[in-house]
Amino acid sequence: GHRESNKWIKSTCPYCGVGCGIEATANHHGGLEVRGDSQHPANFGRLCSKGLALGETVGIEGRLLTPQINQQDVTWEEALTDVATHFRQIIEHHGNDAVAFYVSGQLLTEDYYVANKLMKGFIGSGNIDTNSRLCMSSSVAGHKRAFGADIVPGCYEDLEQADLIVLTGSNLAWCHPVLFQRIRDAKAHNQCKVIVIDPRRTPSCDIADLHLPLLPGSDIALFNGLLAFLSENRAMDFAYIDQDTEGLDLALATAFRFGDIESVQAATGLDREQILAFYQLFAATEKTVTVYSQGINQSTSGTNKVNSILNCHLATGRIGKPGSTPFSITGQPNAMGGREVGGLANMLAAHMDFGNPEHTRQISEFWQTDNLARTPGLKALDMFNAIESGKIKAIWIMATNPAVSLPDNQRLSAALANCPYVVVSDCMADTDTLRHADVALPAQGWGEKSGTVTNSERRISRQRRLLPSPGEAKPDWWIISEVAKKMGFGYAFNYQSEADIFREYAQMTTLGQETLTPSSSGSRTGNHGQDVQALSRPLNLSGLADLTPKQYHQLAPQQWPVTQYDQPTARLFGNGEFATPSGKAQFIATDHRPTAEQTSSRYPLRLNTGRIRDHWHTMTRTGLSPRLSEHTSEPYLALSAQDAERFSIEQNKLVKVSSERGCILLRARISKECLPGQVFAPFHWNDCTTSMGKVNALLAGHRDPLSGQPELKATPVCIHPS
Ligand code: SF4
Repeated sequence: GHRESNKWIKSTCPYCGVGCGIEATANHHGGLEVRGDSQHPANFGRLCSKGLALGETVGIEGRLLTPQINQQDVTWEEALTDVATHFRQIIEHHGNDAVAFYVSGQLLTEDYYVANKLMKGFIGSGNIDTNSRLCMSSSVAGHKRAFGADIVPGCYEDLEQADLIVLTGSNLAWCHPVLFQRIRDAKAHNQCKVIVIDPRRTPSCDIADLHLPLLPGSDIALFNGLLAFLSENRAMDFAYIDQDTEGLDLALATAFRFGDIESVQAATGLDREQILAFYQLFAATEKTVTVYSQGINQSTSGTNKVNSILNCHLATGRIGKPGSTPFSITGQPNAMGGREVGGLANMLAAHMDFGNPEHTRQISEFWQTDNLARTPGLKALDMFNAIESGKIKAIWIMATNPAVSLPDNQRLSAALANCPYVVVSDCMADTDTLRHADVALPAQGWGEKSGTVTNSERRISRQRRLLPSPGEAKPDWWIISEVAKKMGFGYAFNYQSEADIFREYAQMTTLGQETLTPSSSGSRTGNHGQDVQALSRPLNLSGLADLTPKQYHQLAPQQWPVTQYDQPTARLFGNGEFATPSGKAQFIATDHRPTAEQTSSRYPLRLNTGRIRDHWHTMTRTGLSPRLSEHTSEPYLALSAQDAERFSIEQNKLVKVSSERGCILLRARISKECLPGQVFAPFHWNDCTTSMGKVNALLAGHRDPLSGQPELKATPVCIHPS
């Protein structure tokens, strides 16, 4: 529609899981001016370099503007018919598990909801998974085991209220910069202590009172040691443990097995003094927030790592209380929204579960389908392995670039190249993944899309339309719904707008929750009635289930559950009342296990991977901003002076990095960032932006048996001067 000049429209940044509010207005060059939204509770006006440069990334340069079949422009009608026909034929000949969707934390909740509804509800397969699998699926599995539901109990305000913040497996300064700014400002104001647990000396250490450079993969040993220490020093909250938890004895027995300081020292490589300083501060500080991110999740023991952290918070009763909570910070802007509406292959929408006959009955009735998937589908890497083995014959990839972002991406790209039918929806025209597409569908980009996202603190925010769509770009939910109609499911996909979809989703969260009234949801204490608990799911949006289009348009950022309009919930589980059948939180016995691959004389170094400050994922958008590319213009390898000398590597020269799976070139950066024996490289660059090779080509696809999340931070490599 037509916009008044100088009108600032509120929306949400599309990059990280902080979910900052922005305000934007059109400038004279067809682009956008962007500033922080001073009223948004995630950022109160702050933005990081990526958010500030958003206006530079919205041009039509590099955009996919028309639907294409075999790289020839076609009409939407032709493209949609082609997709529907191929999917229908493949399902007819090979069964409904021969097709799959691989989606993304970049999709809006409404897009995700419709994709999940089509695959699980109508095609009848569980084969929809998301790149969030690579991001936080270990946290999802850990939350479910401990709390009975995938819930982040705290909120960002806790960071300002804490007296101790433990950052573990998180370079918050670069990956979630606005949360880092909030902690830095709080520390200047209230002198809270900050402990950083990370094998690398990252910029997050700049505000650390204590940095524990533990050996890669030894987190469980460290947190099991903490649990044993809390027990030995009687620093536990026994009243809370008795009333609200189960399973401490077994978890403690496991922790005690290697929980003495000497064993922790041996496993983590840390000094006794460092370990004790951490344990004593944790034991003594009631208001402690433990922030954890991909360093915990992206591991073959990611789920156990998460639970080893949650165990320590349960033992001290520090869950969902002001300034006192464990806090999983998700990487992507809508990783959480996707989890809520069934974007993961092992979950149904609205936090309902496969294998629960009551849930499958309620969903089938709600969607009016008799074809709801009954078993979980394939998780991300299994999905691509199934393409390689020929079991999956058609895949639709939406808003993500797996040819770069998956581990072992050379092999999986080859699988994609051999897949009989590949559909890719994207806003960009040239990505490594699009090169394998039979059909390319132009999707709206950020700034053109409209819908909602959920950030790391469960806060639902609106992304609003700021610009007209270029060419023939369409909303993802529209594209999916049109294919659904052509496949014969029209009656269930007749959406007029994203507001219709959100309302339907909010209604779905209320299924079977009639017993949960707003007054009972937040205040039940003591007696945990089994029936009520078995029926209620904390993810409840009953207060948003009758939103008018106008209310949806104006929706203010709010944290779920929302059982009454405009009455969000900042914290959960502060009074116990967990979502487990017994209503009690579960301690989980977690054993320290080594990483999947060990270093050897042939591959003596450990490669860690991650993000840099100014780029996002496979840089298809941040690569458009010259300002953002200035910070780091080339892919690099961080290494220690000792390793540089040992392997004859010179500063700023090219270095050949090899693993069992491949070899790439990187620019050497010798610094104090990595300890000897460890190296680090960012994963952003791809075949479209460098000829030096893709970092994830070096990684194996080893994954956590519980969450399916791959290990991305502990690959044995060797290095040579180029
Ligand atoms: Fe965007 Fe994250 Fe930066 Fe906020 S911190 S502006 S959400 S990238």
